[in-house]
Amino acid sequence: MLTTYGFVLNKKEVREFDREYCFFTKKYGKIHLIAKAVRKPLSKLSAQLEPPSLIEIVFVPMSDKGLITTALVKKSFLKTHKNLNKFRVYTRISDVINSFTEFKQPDSLVWNLFNLSINNLEQWNSKIVELNFLAKFIKILGFGPNISTCINCQKKFKDQKKIYFDNHKWGFCCEDCGKNMKPISWQLFKSVDVLTNLDFAEIVKRELNEPIELRYNDIYTFLKNYIKYIKKYF
Ligand SMILES: [Zn+2]
Repeated sequence: MLTTYGFVLNKKEVREFDREYCFFTKKYGKIHLIAKAVRKPLSKLSAQLEPPSLIEIVFVPMSDKGLITTALVKKSFLKTHKNLNKFRVYTRISDVINSFTEFKQPDSLVWNLFNLSINNLEQWNSKIVELNFLAKFIKILGFGPNISTCINCQKKFKDQKKIYFDNHKWGFCCEDCGKNMKPISWQLFKSVDVLTNLDFAEIVKRELNEPIELRYNDIYTFLKNYIKYIKKYF
């Protein structure tokens, strides 16, 4: 038997009384596990497997889908469980992780970001937590945007008045190179910089979270398009 911590990414009903869970775990990465008889009325296991909890899972590994023997909630996130906006962010974070990870590939960077984001979600506004997750996840994947120089001419950005985004070369570019492009706002550029390069604790300590939350729609659209773009490499 094996033991690990994990979060539920998704679940589906199988056979008459069973459920199949997809977890992202600390030790084994993404795995599929079957919980037997959890849909019977007296199942004790079922309550321990409810997202968004941090769960200690004990399971019998199999070649394809292992079998859960016991599960125990190690940390429950009650505000996230009750608040629909927070829970939706949990689900969206889970979906992004699910779509970018391979089965049975442990990844401590992804695990740490996932774990930190779920803990942050309980305490902070769901908008800043989601944007922070997306920017940091893009960076972990190795696709973090270059914030310091133009993607085209390599000129430093510090003297720039206007910033553009090159949709073909996929990166920020300067005014000279971006003549025929639509400019993006300096605030959006700086927000992406902060979210990519500053730890979450530092962002809230410097009170940068509120101005970023106010621009949620713009930043979210930018980061979602970014994620969609890099998906083709996975
Ligand atoms: Zn340039």
